[in-house]
Amino acid sequence: MNVYDSELLRGILSQKGYSATSKPEEANLIVVNTCSVREHAETRAIGRLNELSRYKFENPDVKLAVIGCMAQRLGEKFLKEVPALDFVLGTEELFKLPDYLEKKGKSPTVALSFSELKNIDSLPQRKNKFSSFVAISRGCENFCSYCIVPYVRGSEKNRKVSEIMKEVQCLAESGCKEVTLIGQNVNSYKDNGDDFADLLREVSQTGIKRIRFMTSHPKDLSLKLIEAMSDLEKVCEHLHLPLQSGSDRILEKMNRKYNSSDYLRLVDSVRGKVDNLSLTTDLIVGFPGEKEEDFQKTLEMVEWIEFDSAFMFKYSPREGTKAFLFEDDVPNEVKSERLQTLIELQKKIAQKKNKNLIGRTEEVLIDGKSKRDKASWKGKGRSNKTVIIPKGENDDNLLGEIVKVKITGADSFTLFGETVKNR
Ligand code: SAH
Ligand code: SF4
Repeated sequence: MNVYDSELLRGILSQKGYSATSKPEEANLIVVNTCSVREHAETRAIGRLNELSRYKFENPDVKLAVIGCMAQRLGEKFLKEVPALDFVLGTEELFKLPDYLEKKGKSPTVALSFSELKNIDSLPQRKNKFSSFVAISRGCENFCSYCIVPYVRGSEKNRKVSEIMKEVQCLAESGCKEVTLIGQNVNSYKDNGDDFADLLREVSQTGIKRIRFMTSHPKDLSLKLIEAMSDLEKVCEHLHLPLQSGSDRILEKMNRKYNSSDYLRLVDSVRGKVDNLSLTTDLIVGFPGEKEEDFQKTLEMVEWIEFDSAFMFKYSPREGTKAFLFEDDVPNEVKSERLQTLIELQKKIAQKKNKNLIGRTEEVLIDGKSKRDKASWKGKGRSNKTVIIPKGENDDNLLGEIVKVKITGADSFTLFGETVKNR
């Protein structure tokens, strides 16, 4: 969502005549977008902002802005952490940055209000021309006990189907092949009588070739959505379904509103309907009160379900959340050990699953050159896995193409393959 917001702000600024530079010494406006989900991200953002402050000391005309979740959370307090700041703009106010720049009002400016969700009359300026995020909703009201998002992004606000369709159609016309519909919980999307499955059907009618979405909250994953995934050719066989913990006791304390059996039933149901499903998840270790036996339950679930990949985190207490009131009683060393054990297990599972794909043919959307080997293309399969393809004889310009690739090798994170002739 932050990547999308940054792209949107870049679009708004470019309409006002700004252009981007990758060199901070050339910039007269420096903007840092921030995340508050874990403390580590916040510490890094403060470090980065203080480092960037030197461009302002060298040239007082330079403006320094912090935007997004952390700005929303800290407000005025941010000025103590980074005294050189000119603007602290929260998660909704950030889109008004050009107005604040023109106003030359009081400096520094701190603006945090949540406004009604307005249609922003500007298209995001995206780095990846072939695959784009499209936000379908903003905010969240699930209040998982560990999570800061509902406090910094406000309650859930859905965009209208018509607005989303306009953006998707524009993208299709500009040569974009794939969209990822994003929201904190896409499964609770609603606009008049339309739900998320209806929206997927609408987006399928456009010139876009592939559709992805994230994130799905297990409590709202409906049979109707599973059926839409299975019916709609353009919807990729990938589901990101955060489990968070395998222990029912911990899931309850997390306020997730499902238990491990509900989750297993859902997995069976999706796997039963969607062939070759790639299933990914988020997991937290060291939540307050997590005992060794709770952690073992997480390992058991991971072993049983066999996720294709997982984002795994140590619990990070966030002030203002309900869990902040619980004692953060799992020592950091134990959190680190548990995280390491979980990562090792998941790595083994991913490697096994990826190796099983050797010999299969995947449709890959080529999005650039491999970072490690410039003579190879890199892209994403429908499963969302990265595929590396050495350049063949007729493969001079595959950028932005969807090609058939035979998988010839795999490790825990990447697939390797070669293009299939006569595509
Ligand atoms: N709306 C999405 C994701 C929100 S944040 C969802 O519900 O799945 C992304 C992930 O960060 C979460 O799924 C969770 O695993 C992790 N996360 C959120 N708050 C956290 C915290 N306080 N400590 C550690 N991980 C956290
Ligand atoms: Fe946070 Fe839960 Fe909302 Fe996801 S669903 S953003 S974890 S409160």
